[in-house]
Formats: sequence, C-alpha cells, structure tokens
Amino acid sequence: VLLTDYAWPDPEVERSVIEGAGFSLAIGPAKASPQAAIVELARQNRPLAIMTCWAEVTAPAIEACPDLKIVQRIGVGLDNIDRAAAAARGAVVTNVPDYCVEEVSDHAVGMLLAWARGIVSFDREVKGGQWDAAGARLRRVRDLTVGIAGFGRIGRRTAAKMQPFGSRLLVYDKYPPSGGFPEGMTGVDAKRLLSESDVVVLHLPLTPETRNFIDARSLQRMKPGSLLINVSRGGLVDNDALLQALEKGPLGAAALDVVEGEPNPPRALIGNPKVIATPHIAFASTASVLELRRRSAEEVVRVLTG
Ligand code: NAD
Repeated sequence: VLLTDYAWPDPEVERSVIEGAGFSLAIGPAKASPQAAIVELARQNRPLAIMTCWAEVTAPAIEACPDLKIVQRIGVGLDNIDRAAAAARGAVVTNVPDYCVEEVSDHAVGMLLAWARGIVSFDREVKGGQWDAAGARLRRVRDLTVGIAGFGRIGRRTAAKMQPFGSRLLVYDKYPPSGGFPEGMTGVDAKRLLSESDVVVLHLPLTPETRNFIDARSLQRMKPGSLLINVSRGGLVDNDALLQALEKGPLGAAALDVVEGEPNPPRALIGNPKVIATPHIAFASTASVLELRRRSAEEVVRVLTG
C-alpha cells in the first residue's frame, strides 16, 4: 500500500491497520508530495493500493501500478485523483464522506450561538480595553427562525441540534426526504427560507446549480439584521454581493468557515467587523481526524481482501 503523503506527524494509525492485515506500507514524504516522487514510489513498489491525502494521484502514477485495486482519498473530495485513469486500470476510487458530520454541525451551531450572544464581538471589544455591557444587540436563541439550506447528512444534524433550543426551524432541500421532514421542521422553498429566517445556514454541496446560491438577489430577500452561516463551500456565496449586503444591508452578519478564494480570501470581506471567520476547520477534531485515518485504511484492507 502506497501512502503518497500524510498530514500528521506519524502515520501510526495507517500502519497498524495496513500491517495488521498483513500488507506492507510504503510512505511518501510528508504533505503533498511532488508528482515525480509519487510516480517513482509507484514504480519501485508496484502497490495494490494508493492512499492519498493532499497529493495528486495522476495518470502516470496510476499507470505505474499494474496491479492497482483501489485509490483511497483520506478525506471527502476526489478532485486530486484522476478517476478516469483509475477506472481504466480497473481500480475503485473511494472516500470517507461522513467522518465529520458531528464537527461541521457543531461548528454551525457554535457560529450561531457566538453571533446571537455576541461572544466574538464582545471578546474583541474586551481585549481592546472596552468593558461595555450594553447588550441590546443580543438575541434570544429560542425566538429565532433558523433556515437550513440542504437537509443531507450535516444539515439534518444541525437541525436536530437546534431543536432543543426551541427555535423555529425552516428547511429547504431540492430532494426532500420521501417521508417528509421530521416533526417540528417546516419544509419551504428557497425564497421563503431566505425571507423568513433570522439565520440562514448553508449545508448545500457546491454544484453548477448551487454556485452563487447566495447572490445579490437572494441577499436582498433576507431579513434586516439577519445572519448568514457558510460551513459548506465558498463558491455557494458571491463574495462581492455579500460584502455589499453587509455594508449597505440587509445582512447583519456573516459567519464563514469557507470563502471563495481561500486560503487567500478577500481582505475587505474577512476583515469586516460583521464577519466571524474560521480557516476551513469545521471538519476538524481529534476524534474526526482519527476516524478518517482509521476508516481510510480499513477501506483499503476491505477492498484488498475482497
Ligand atoms: P449531503 O450530500 O449529505 O447533503 C447535501 C444535501 O443538499 C442533500 O440533501 C441534497 O438533496 C441537497 N441538495 C443538493 N443539491 C441541491 C440544490 N440544488 N438545491 C437544494 N438542495 C440541494 O452532504 P453533507 O455531507 O451534508 O455535506 C454538505 C456539504 O458540507 C458538502 O458538500 C461539503 O461541501 C461541506 N463540508 C464542509 C466541511 C468543512 O470543513 N467546512 C466538511 C465536510 C463537508
């Protein structure tokens, strides 16, 4: 098994699963290995399986492995793997789509609470030497209408986690569950979601259809002073329109874990005092990363052992 790269100090999790099943592990240099190094490792080791985190697995690497059975992405997205080349080799390409459902939904709820209770803005003020307890801008979470766009793995968990707060829950999904939405959640169309919610949470995948789901027009539909949370993909939101809606209304705030242009998002947007930002870390926790690594290695063993 060729592990092209690893983002962690020591691949001991991968080693124990792979070697525990009787396979041997060849390891590329830490973090996104250069292509030439991967092709060379593939030539030397002729692996049955390739595991990759950030490194690109291109056609030359795949073609150097005559017995390849599986290319495993240690993550969700598959854009760093040449899937056509893998298919031509007869190798399956797999990922771990659900290792961080708890973390991303926790992050969305955390951002909502941080905004409603002014935790980030008061923290900035207090550290700046200001001790002003005027709390008029704070919101009672129970009184909020929370609109969730995308009722998939993560959207469902965010909705379930908001239920005990007593907030009104609106849900929009183009492909709603066949049995309808759970009790206490109201299915609505996108227009209603935007116009009735105090908080809009994006849990949609980025597709040609959802790109710029939040643009100048949709922002104009949103409630004055409302909050937009994006923990999905930056491309769901038009950055220029977002900045304009924060500066001129109606939007009150934005909480962004993902921004189009990351890792160098527009400074004017990220630096805006109405924006709370985290650097695409909603997926992360000690538990989620360990789960990701263990399940990736187990998937390789599962395929190799039939
Ligand atoms: P999912 O596929 O389980 O759910 C997506 C939902 O969106 C589905 O219910 C689907 O029916 C709905 N949908 C698809 N196209 C739509 C459209 N055009 N209009 C309305 N609804 C539509 O995905 P998930 O596991 O819940 O993940 C959601 C997104 O979260 C991922 O696509 C990914 O971009 C993002 N994500 C972010 C992080 C992070 O660290 N910030 C980590 C993991 C995932």
